[in-house]
Amino acid sequence: MKECPIVEDLLPLYHEGLLKPETTEWVEEHLNNCSACNSLASISSEPIMNDADRPVVDHDKMMAKVTSKLTLYQLIFVGISFFLAIRTVIANESFGFILPYFILGLVTFLFYRTYRLVVMIAFLPVFLWFLGTMLYSTFQHTESDYNFFMMVFDAIYGSFLMAGIHFLFAILGAIVGWLFFKFKESGDK
Ligand SMILES: [Zn+2]
Repeated sequence: MKECPIVEDLLPLYHEGLLKPETTEWVEEHLNNCSACNSLASISSEPIMNDADRPVVDHDKMMAKVTSKLTLYQLIFVGISFFLAIRTVIANESFGFILPYFILGLVTFLFYRTYRLVVMIAFLPVFLWFLGTMLYSTFQHTESDYNFFMMVFDAIYGSFLMAGIHFLFAILGAIVGWLFFKFKESGDK
């Protein structure tokens, strides 16, 4: 038919509902009488509407879901790391922390593939917890002859050292995680 190209041009506007009532009527009348345009209209109607609108929303939703999931995991990791830090301080085992921190570093790296988080999880909680405990006991024994600032310095230095040792084993775990990925990548090739 002669009108077919015109109808074809009007279809996108027709689907969006942007045509005047008379034009809409005219297009519909043509679609009823022309099977070629009718099938074209039914093909073009769905993808145009859905592709434009839905995926954007889905993508946002998905990203929000992923982000909240990551935050949840991060909270769990931080919780575990604080638990381990407290445990090592309380238990006062000389070497009991080695394996848990090795595993903590390994798991953290396998999960996030970043050393930054290993630092945050292995170093900071231990440092803060040791510092808190040491400062607390410092304030408990203020009657001693020790210089107060020296004692605070000792507390910071001691906590730093303890956190460093814990961090060392976590980093060893992370390196094993890194080797694991390297090994896997070379296996894929
Ligand atoms: Zn037609």
